[in-house]
Amino acid sequence: MLEIDGSRGEGGGQILRTSLSLSTLTQTPIRLFHIRSNRSRPGLQNQHLVSVLAAGRICDAEISGAVLGSREICFRPGPIRGGDYSFSIGSAGSCMLVLQTILLPLVLADSPSRLVLEGGTHNPFAPTVHFLNACYLPLLRKMGIQVELKLERPGFYPAGGGRCTVDIKPSVDGLRPIEVLERGQLRSQSVHALISQLPESIANRELQVALRVLQWSKKSVRQEQVESLGPGNVLLVHCEFEHVSELVSGVGEKGKSAEIVAKNAARAMQAYLKSDAPIGLHLADQLLLPLALAGGGELRCQGITEHTLTNIGTIQLFLPISIAHRALADGTYHVALAKE
Ligand code: ATP
Repeated sequence: MLEIDGSRGEGGGQILRTSLSLSTLTQTPIRLFHIRSNRSRPGLQNQHLVSVLAAGRICDAEISGAVLGSREICFRPGPIRGGDYSFSIGSAGSCMLVLQTILLPLVLADSPSRLVLEGGTHNPFAPTVHFLNACYLPLLRKMGIQVELKLERPGFYPAGGGRCTVDIKPSVDGLRPIEVLERGQLRSQSVHALISQLPESIANRELQVALRVLQWSKKSVRQEQVESLGPGNVLLVHCEFEHVSELVSGVGEKGKSAEIVAKNAARAMQAYLKSDAPIGLHLADQLLLPLALAGGGELRCQGITEHTLTNIGTIQLFLPISIAHRALADGTYHVALAKE
């Protein structure tokens, strides 16, 4: 049984999710301890617990310690089975993080899968459904992965109740390595404000501030009232290039002004645009696992975060892969993966 210390590096939920994906994929039993010990509410919260149970369901794993608040689990995977699965987080915890835990195992299963996921779809500190659709999945498709993610109803903190469906076809020939070193030509820029059960003026103010900071034309904005179980708001700032996209999500919160939500999102996009790297800060850590499974690849990214370093360490516990990163003269970073 592989012993994994969940307090390493970032010490958050990603060590758990990457370990579950790789335990399942490599059929390695694991004991994971000190789960999320660097977080103010350590141990398994709803989203993490559902990630454990979902990973267990798709491979009929033997699991111990899978209860709310648990700081230690043992997970003994069986063979992965594609099929129809429904997972409900029962809170506004991120459906997208549950999806990222089981997506690659299901891609490498021998039959197709259809997932229904319920919970949060637009959470701060997690990829939104729009981020996965704009940034993450298009690159996975270049690696040979056939997956469709559909948002049926957005879910915001605290009510949750969002719903997505995911169709996954197995990649019989495995994954292809990719190189993402340049952005290519700019194709489009947009700022999209989604609101549910809140005054339209919130979306208006966000769009105005974002346009002012970014100096983009009025033609790039869109405002949309959506139906959700509770109030919620997200501002999606999107740049689409020939080879990649970046999408920054500003999630509205009670007590945080629309102006601050928009300013933070617009500034994050400005930083990305200034850097000229194709891969943004969050996408970098999320692409490591698919590239490692493909046995190689190269990225040029905006920065190396603690999440990226921690994910490298977790992946290397399971797979014989070298993952080298170095700073380039232009301030971006080169990441190269190769089989050892
Ligand atoms: P915790 O750390 O509290 O356990 P967590 O389970 O959400 O929280 P983290 O380890 O923090 O887990 O991982 C969060 C993941 O979400 C990382 O892959 C990170 O890159 C990604 N992420 C965070 N914010 C964004 C964002 N705005 N857009 C896209 N991805 C994001």
